[in-house]
Amino acid sequence: MYEQDSYASSIRELGKQYRIHEIGLKDYVDGQPLPEDVFSFLREARVFENLAPGNSAVGVQSVSRWLVALREVGALDNTSVHIMTTQSLIIYALQFAGEDQRLRQQLQEMLELDKHACFCLTEAGGGSDAAGMQTTVFREDGGYRIQGEKCMIMNAGFADYFLVAARLSDVEGYDGITLFLVDRDTPGLTVFPHTETCGVTGVPINRIAFNDVRVPRERLVGQEGKGWKILMKVLNCTRPGVGAAALGAARTAMERAAVYGKDRVCFGKPLNKNAVLQGKFAEMTLAWESGWLMVERAGRCLDEGRSGQTAISAMAKIAATDAAKLVVDRSLDFFGGYGYLREVGMERFYRDVRVCTIYDGTNDILRGLVAGSQLKSCVEHA
Ligand SMILES: Cc1cc2nc3c(=O)[nH]c(=O)nc-3n(C[C@H](O)[C@H](O)[C@H](O)COP(=O)(O)OP(=O)(O)OC[C@H]3O[C@@H](n4cnc5c(N)ncnc54)[C@H](O)[C@@H]3O)c2cc1C
Repeated sequence: MYEQDSYASSIRELGKQYRIHEIGLKDYVDGQPLPEDVFSFLREARVFENLAPGNSAVGVQSVSRWLVALREVGALDNTSVHIMTTQSLIIYALQFAGEDQRLRQQLQEMLELDKHACFCLTEAGGGSDAAGMQTTVFREDGGYRIQGEKCMIMNAGFADYFLVAARLSDVEGYDGITLFLVDRDTPGLTVFPHTETCGVTGVPINRIAFNDVRVPRERLVGQEGKGWKILMKVLNCTRPGVGAAALGAARTAMERAAVYGKDRVCFGKPLNKNAVLQGKFAEMTLAWESGWLMVERAGRCLDEGRSGQTAISAMAKIAATDAAKLVVDRSLDFFGGYGYLREVGMERFYRDVRVCTIYDGTNDILRGLVAGSQLKSCVEHA
């Protein structure tokens, strides 16, 4: 949990200097920019350098270091970390799109955090079953036209670029899914007001309409019909990241529980001397460490370009986010009724971490994916 890692401590220290842990307490106000300190901190911490094109097998520099950065920023602030997770998804997608250099300038702008991006996959008709998406793309002279609607899109309130998944009008299912990088000010693109959510309240989440949005050929990401293949590679990288971010928040919740339990006296002794609560703390620690081990393993697997990335990444996300959910729940218990009061700030962890088991593929969908791959592998090796 606290391994001697100078990279992790440098992020922690810088975040404290920027008082970044206080920013996450503020709710997003529709139409207002996010506090500039969030971006200044992320730029100065140079976290996006981990994603710059390099020579590792997955084409990015260091997934493992990126995961440490997500954990540390997640421990500080839930707004900054969601800027990181979302932006990384688009950065990975542009890199995995192939040797294509058309979008190099946009990639660079995102790596430097000069421009912000959001990822538009989910639709009202279904988020898990992407093959059934209704947003349609029609070929036109010189480019494409997109028609449809997306919902629950994080960071759309301030994004400059929209990575949009749409299905070719003449191809069914996954084979038709194609990706585009669309500018915010493109005619026909409408971002609806911020949707209020249970947690992660510091970041905007919006519904978006694409009404005959015209996109030039240069903004095709990869090739026609190859969008799903690119997204699968991208999600292999981002899923452990969601786990790392959740474990960061969970660690802070645990720290607060430990501090509270040291001073709160019940039945004549501090809570931390109570065997039942000690057992609870041991359970939290074990869950946290097991989740982090899976995240680290996924990071190594990606950095070394090993096979089986999809299953390992899915398992890392499940293990880490389920662990984080358990940890914030048990940490809240330490505070008794006070844990439930908004002013104490523990319930915020509970609400924030909850979404991590839902997006980037729900944990149930990922369990199905893990079962599919492992059943096959077990039968082959038996
Ligand atoms: C705060 C927040 C931020 C988000 N950010 C983004 C974003 O930036 N971009 C984006 O594109 N999307 C985003 N999403 C959407 C998110 O990815 C979807 O909500 C998620 O993929 C699930 O889709 P759904 O809500 O349509 O649920 P459904 O697909 O309708 O599923 C409903 C339930 O049924 C379960 N289920 C369905 N089919 C199966 C099956 N075959 N096996 C087992 N269980 C199954 C699911 O696990 C889920 O529990 C965000 C959501 C939230 C809440």
